[in-house]
Amino acid sequence: MSVPNETELLARVPSKLYIGGQWVDGSAGHSIDVVDPATGSVIKTIADASSDDGIAALDAAVAAADSWAATAPRARGEILRRAFDLLQERRDDFALLMTLEMGKPLAESQGEVTYGGEFLRWFGEEAVRIAGRYGTNPEGTGRMIVSQHPVGPCYLITPWNFPLAMATRKIAPALAAGCTVVIKPAELTPLTTLYVARLLEDAGLPAGVLNVITTSTSGEVSGPIIEDPRLRKLSFTGSTAVGQKLIQQSAHGVLRTSMELGGNAPFVVFEDADLDRAVDGAMIAKFRNIGQACTAANRFIVHESIAEEFARRVTERVNGFRVGRGTDDGVTIGPLINEAAVEKAEKLVRDAVERGASVLTGGSAIEGTGTFYEPTVISGVKPGSDILREEIFGPVLAIVPFTDEADAIRIANDTEFGLVSYVFTKDLARGQRMIERLQTGMMGLNVGVISNAAAPFGGVKHSGLGREGGLEGIHEYLSTKYTLTPDPFAV
Ligand code: NAP
Repeated sequence: MSVPNETELLARVPSKLYIGGQWVDGSAGHSIDVVDPATGSVIKTIADASSDDGIAALDAAVAAADSWAATAPRARGEILRRAFDLLQERRDDFALLMTLEMGKPLAESQGEVTYGGEFLRWFGEEAVRIAGRYGTNPEGTGRMIVSQHPVGPCYLITPWNFPLAMATRKIAPALAAGCTVVIKPAELTPLTTLYVARLLEDAGLPAGVLNVITTSTSGEVSGPIIEDPRLRKLSFTGSTAVGQKLIQQSAHGVLRTSMELGGNAPFVVFEDADLDRAVDGAMIAKFRNIGQACTAANRFIVHESIAEEFARRVTERVNGFRVGRGTDDGVTIGPLINEAAVEKAEKLVRDAVERGASVLTGGSAIEGTGTFYEPTVISGVKPGSDILREEIFGPVLAIVPFTDEADAIRIANDTEFGLVSYVFTKDLARGQRMIERLQTGMMGLNVGVISNAAAPFGGVKHSGLGREGGLEGIHEYLSTKYTLTPDPFAV
């Protein structure tokens, strides 16, 4: 791993919209300043799309749809594989770019390059395994053919917290399935997606298959795309509130939708848990990405007999963190994405403390340049505290004691979300009971990080619809067709 020169890297990153294989100016009449949250400085100024640009991007995706769907699955897979290989060559560029626009420490950005790249490799492999069925109908009078087809042009909307992985997790399965796409990254972190478009262009992706729009008016630009009858699929990752709005908008065109929404993950530590393992798991489940992950542990539900010891150990570890700009050596906690994120962490901690929680370490915003919040541990969090209900999206570890298994399950399920749960116990049967009783789309049983391109990622309840990754991921971009033919021996 070597760290590229920042100025030279930023000069290599495109600053225009990518439509129909061309890099074009935005026509909104202004531009977007991308800011480094660690310094508050503008690192690059890029194009701002108007709603006409959005429709032009959809036009390009529609124009390329038939030929891409007819491209051999092996050829589609090989382009994705070439993109995977190129990503490995450019991994230091991508890592630094994410640290600059989003703030996470470089080592974590390198981890995201690995994770995000795996979607290109996995779905490159899956492109040739899109299978159907053929069989005799129960009456014996005909043959039933079940086949899979690309759903058609897709609109992909991604958040700022994992700029590479959220893009590849949608682009790769869509392209593997034979769909063309328009992708819109978050205004706060658009550079990585533009650099992904350059990567796919260099990997030989035909013009129009992938189109990128960057905009400062996401609602205004997205509305006409979502309402356009040529669009067939919307895949969104972001907050539940925006997801709900997009589901309503999608009703008009009866769009296929995939929704990867917010979380409020419980992290349950039973009295029989391996405490060293639980503390290691807690560090990664809470502080990875500076706590800004939908999979971040939000509520540490710890048996009352070990709550104090657990709190002591996690506090000791948190006191060893180094806060700073993600590019600096040894930094483990970068800035939050913006001032609003700092204010949210402050508000949630203040509310918890007013209701009786104790601050064991941290608990304040850090004054000065950038948007930093101290890594924080609070214990004895009382029922009814906002921090138990809302996504923290910051480096705050909140501990709630429980009395027995039924109590742990009740607290864990007491949320409208259901993305991921973490459980630490040495008792296998208890672990299995938790798998069956927790309302969750995913579970880490004695582990603190579970994401993998080979696994189906997604939630239940207000955490979303559909799955990304795994064998399931490609089916979000395929529609099933059933055909009946007469018994060939009877005609
Ligand atoms: P957000 O505010 O919902 O934004 C997500 C994306 O939607 C951004 O690209 C945003 O663009 C766009 N957007 C906002 N309003 C829109 C509208 N009216 N029409 C069309 N697009 C619109 O969420 P965020 O703050 O970026 O991300 C944090 C949230 O994402 C958290 O709740 C987190 O849990 C969730 N998340 C979920 C997963 C998962 O897999 N389940 C993964 C990562 C994050 P602009 O920002 O440019 O307006």
